[in-house]
Amino acid sequence: MKKLQELVRPNIFVLKPYSCARNEFTGEASVFLDANENPLNGPYNRYPDPLQLELKAKIAKMKGVKVEQIMLGNGSDEPIDLIVRIFCEPKEDNIVAIAPSYGMYEVCADVNNVEYRKVLLNEDFTLDADKLLAAVDKNTKVIFICSPNNPTGNLLNRKEMLKVVNGFDGIVVIDEAYIDFASEQSWLSELNQHPNLIVLQTFSKAWGLAAVRCGMAFASEEIMEYFNKVKYPYNINLLTQQFVNEQISQEARKQEWVKMLLAQRDRLAKEFSSMPLIKKVYPTDANFILVKVDDANAAYKYLMEKGVIVRNRNSVSLCGGCLRITVGTAEENDELLARLKEI
Ligand SMILES: *Cc1c(COP(=O)(O)O)cnc(C)c1O
Repeated sequence: MKKLQELVRPNIFVLKPYSCARNEFTGEASVFLDANENPLNGPYNRYPDPLQLELKAKIAKMKGVKVEQIMLGNGSDEPIDLIVRIFCEPKEDNIVAIAPSYGMYEVCADVNNVEYRKVLLNEDFTLDADKLLAAVDKNTKVIFICSPNNPTGNLLNRKEMLKVVNGFDGIVVIDEAYIDFASEQSWLSELNQHPNLIVLQTFSKAWGLAAVRCGMAFASEEIMEYFNKVKYPYNINLLTQQFVNEQISQEARKQEWVKMLLAQRDRLAKEFSSMPLIKKVYPTDANFILVKVDDANAAYKYLMEKGVIVRNRNSVSLCGGCLRITVGTAEENDELLARLKEI
């Protein structure tokens, strides 16, 4: 890996972060007249902890990482945008990423005027590390990988991913939004062996908290310093910090949900494969299934008219004729299956 100083944009490397009023104070105090807050309407009158240490302590314990290796964002979308802004000089640096994959990587690159190089997965959605690495040049700062991948659903081969992590001297981001549904382990356990690795996870999927907007980035303490410098000081509000903290206490309930969704996923996959309409059911390690049909646009439109909304991926590279179908409750899946059988 290159030195972090060579990877981080020069202006970010020297950036002096905003200093919150309360940053300067440590120890005991009972009168807070430093931040122009209203003294009434507690606890909502006070600015929240900019580093969310209480919540992070809980996440650190759950994930087996250090508090200092965690950044929390307004969804994973915030760390994705921060990664682009920390490492990529507009109009100069570039990003390499697998395709098809999650749309936000490219949007964030575009917003920041950073070249985004898409490297197609193989036809069966497997990863070819050498092909990905061949797109790298001296201005490539970041590689985005997503596993289990969206919209294809499959886990990427661990050895191929390792080849990318070891074979690239810049930052490798592994987006694990769907890891709770997967049959393989997270890359979090390898964080300490790979200083160039950033792992993304989220509370939006398995935890059932998409509305709350809380995403996680995990990386070395050195990388985290830059996240903390660049992020908005109070990016996670108090309500979110408290609510997510409370929800984490109910991890057993999340596990039950995952179990139910995996059973429903198996049921759907089995039903799909016996439907004449569906030409191919792709293997999945996520809470959705990609299927190929003869006429994706027509099937999508028919389902929509019946009030069943799926994701039409027909125009996505390698996904011609494909619909991405999220696993719902047993009742929702009944409705989906009934409607599909009418086509
Ligand atoms: C859903 C999803 C996310 C989560 O985004 P949030 O902003 O945390 O809701 C991240 N990455 C991928 C690939 C996703 O599909």
